[in-house]
Amino acid sequence: MRVPLTDPGATYARHREELDAAVRDVLGSGWYILGEQVGSFEREFASAVGVGHAIGVGNGTDALELALRGCGVVRRDEVLTVSHTAVATVAAIERAGATPVLVDIDEDTMTIDLRQAERAIERRQPRAVVVVHLYGHPVDMTALTRMAARHGTMVIEDCAQAHGAEWDGRRVGSFGNAAAFSFYPTKSLGGFGDGGAVTTTSDEVAERVRSLRQYGWRERYVSDEIGMNSRLDELQAAILRVLLPHLDADNRTRREVAARYDQELAGHGLVLPPSPPPHAAHAYHQYVVRTSQRDELAATLREAGIGTAVLYPVPVHLQPAYQGRVETYDDLPATVRLREELLCLPMGPHLTDADVDHVIAEVQRWAGAA
Ligand SMILES: *Cc1c(COP(=O)(O)O)cnc(C)c1O
Repeated sequence: MRVPLTDPGATYARHREELDAAVRDVLGSGWYILGEQVGSFEREFASAVGVGHAIGVGNGTDALELALRGCGVVRRDEVLTVSHTAVATVAAIERAGATPVLVDIDEDTMTIDLRQAERAIERRQPRAVVVVHLYGHPVDMTALTRMAARHGTMVIEDCAQAHGAEWDGRRVGSFGNAAAFSFYPTKSLGGFGDGGAVTTTSDEVAERVRSLRQYGWRERYVSDEIGMNSRLDELQAAILRVLLPHLDADNRTRREVAARYDQELAGHGLVLPPSPPPHAAHAYHQYVVRTSQRDELAATLREAGIGTAVLYPVPVHLQPAYQGRVETYDDLPATVRLREELLCLPMGPHLTDADVDHVIAEVQRWAGAA
């Protein structure tokens, strides 16, 4: 029996007819960049997030860069974020010309340590903070937006792992000055290639991002400022339009799988992901367990045909391209400690009940033997 960590091919198999038809329509349309499909997807995605604007772009990293630039972040501005994230988060800040300052995570939620973030905001008065709803766990946006507002700091949300996560009854991606999404194939809403989107409630930010994604044009062939080329294409937009209506059901499946893991894996010596407060909804992009014997558990599961992942074996501030160059608020002890201890178990709508049973049985067997 094989249980993969994620399975984008299964997404295709589940929606094959609709996807084939959508792709065929685009190919036959004679129009491949910034057309009807992208426009419709942008409206549908904005409505799903609960904002006025979504702008389709080339990928999640570009979405972050464009969100930052669209909000007016410029060269030498400081931007606060975490080191326990995809390197893309920090890379995008530097691509926007800004200087990242990295803070620690909270050991329970594995997202930004709000107390340290507040101290860092007070001391450094950064232009913006990029909050990452990592693994689908929503950051406390009430506390975060309140502290940011007090200091005039802008908020950009990295929602690459949090499609459909909620805080206080609202979808993430609707709280900040702008937000960035990725539609990379393994994300909770993923196409069959690269793709991303910026969401915002601000007309002004939306207009700026639209211009920046295409050479800084407001009027065709006339660049008002230095832009880039980062466009969602018609094929990916048509594919995402087929998959978007299934996002909520897929997330319900993720929550059901998480609930079974929660129930069956408790009391076996693993630290399980914390449930968010009742007014929030975890998107469970990943189900991440914590143990000091992480590598042993991964090896045991591999032998049983179960895919696992260590998503961030090296925090950004310790990677060769960043070490000694990127600024950190302190030694980031929680970030450094957790790098040795976190393991992602299989998660996603591709899992059958039998798959989940197999994962649970093998983890329990390992825990009994360990
Ligand atoms: C995937 C991811 C990104 C980057 O998205 P791409 O589409 O791969 O550029 C950014 N931030 C986080 C947290 C991610 O998981």
